Amino acid sequence: MKDLLVMKFGGTSVGSAERMRIAARLAAEEAAKRPVVVVVSAMSKITDILLATMRHAEAGDRAGIEANLTALRARHDEACRELLPEARQPAVLAKIARLIDDFERIVNGMAMLGERPPRSIDEAVAVGERLSVMLVAEHLNAEGVRAAAVNAQDVVVTDAVFGNASPLMEPTREKARAHLLPLLGQGVLPVITGFNGATADGRPTTLGRGGSDFSASILAAALDASELWIWTDVDGIMSADPRLVPDADVLAEVTYAEAAELAYNGAKVLHPKTLAPLAEKKIPVWSKNSFAPEKPGTRIVPAIAVQNGTRAVTSMGNVAMVSLEPASPELNGVQVMARALDAVARADVEVLLFSSSSYRQNFCFLVRQEELERSVRALESALALELAHKYLYPIAVDRDVGLLAAVGEGMQGKPGLAGRIFTAISRVNVNIIAIAQGSSELTIAVVVRRDGLEKAVRAVHAECGLGRAHAAAQH
Ligand code: ADP
Ligand code: ASP
Ligand code: MG
Repeated sequence: MKDLLVMKFGGTSVGSAERMRIAARLAAEEAAKRPVVVVVSAMSKITDILLATMRHAEAGDRAGIEANLTALRARHDEACRELLPEARQPAVLAKIARLIDDFERIVNGMAMLGERPPRSIDEAVAVGERLSVMLVAEHLNAEGVRAAAVNAQDVVVTDAVFGNASPLMEPTREKARAHLLPLLGQGVLPVITGFNGATADGRPTTLGRGGSDFSASILAAALDASELWIWTDVDGIMSADPRLVPDADVLAEVTYAEAAELAYNGAKVLHPKTLAPLAEKKIPVWSKNSFAPEKPGTRIVPAIAVQNGTRAVTSMGNVAMVSLEPASPELNGVQVMARALDAVARADVEVLLFSSSSYRQNFCFLVRQEELERSVRALESALALELAHKYLYPIAVDRDVGLLAAVGEGMQGKPGLAGRIFTAISRVNVNIIAIAQGSSELTIAVVVRRDGLEKAVRAVHAECGLGRAHAAAQH
């Protein structure tokens, strides 16, 4: 649709009545000028509470369930009372109660069975987004801006990988057009849930944690939007996580490839899959701060002319390193590697980094800690014979590691850069455990001791001349 703007508000940007009011105003201002579709996350921390409640249910912890249900009701009731005119409150409080009752019903089922089936989790966890979308739409209507709450379950069609579903773009395009274009045509602002969807036969799914960014880009692509704005709680994509590096600077522009690499290597500001649906139509994305909307934010574009070396440094703490080492020269190292990777891939484990010094020697790879147990089980079963006959040393696991990545298209062909990064890390006395650089030279990834990770990030950030202090010194 011509000139269409998709706007996504993250959890902190709708975290309270006050924040919802600001989000609604930002959306309404644009909607007065052009067609707008709004995508909304659950209020901050709500998804965590919903997921924790289901864990309590599985463990049969009644008190834990009750405490969380009380917290859920209190948070949304309070937002409703602060946000809406008194006359509207009883009806909306009743809607909140109904949605939380739906959630409670699923949770009770889990408590009874003592298990949490992934498909039930997905249905239940989407209640967070359904609540926030309902409140934002109610508020817009109360302010005289016609808006409709939409459940993405009726719009975003996905595969059946519960908890980490992928969109099916063709049916999503059809549904998005059928549901949202008529609303836009009538001058109604659609406010749609982020994070969730459903299979073609209607089973609820979710797109993975932080998936509302992905929802927004799926909808932007499905509706041929001209832009996507992602509203969050920082000034845009920065040269490092500002929580770790106080001197981190906002990047005015990054490429799709850079933003995706940053996201894959731990920059939470963007869900890693966000850019994929946009590539074909080259839809530009803005990352903006809803707490400081006057600031320009970061523009994410398919390509930029001037390439500035390293653009940003990211890190991931919740990872573990798995190492395998042949104990016998008779073993074909390449075959072992292939079978090991095949085994973890089949177990739906994402390998974050892979490194090997030579095919006869050991090789290691990095996985998320929550996928570690699954990885080791898959390896033990795929390589059971070699392990039993001691052709392979026992699988070694190191949980005490972190991943650091330096990212930038301009790093390509810069001799000495990798050396400077390693030296900077060593200078602050942090041990380097493994190194990897893809042949695209977009990212240099380093595995270090976990307790030195933050220190190493700050050291590399400074070494690469990133940050506000450096920018100021240059002017
Ligand atoms: P939202 O709820 O809006 O989706 P998130 O919490 O998912 O927001 O992402 C925003 C957070 O990402 C920021 O508060 C910041 O701490 C973190 N972050 C990590 N790396 C970066 C980076 N390179 N640039 C900006 N923010 C980053
Ligand atoms: N509410 C979901 C989460 O916390 C999705 C999102 O915020 O993007 O993971
Ligand atoms: Mg997010």
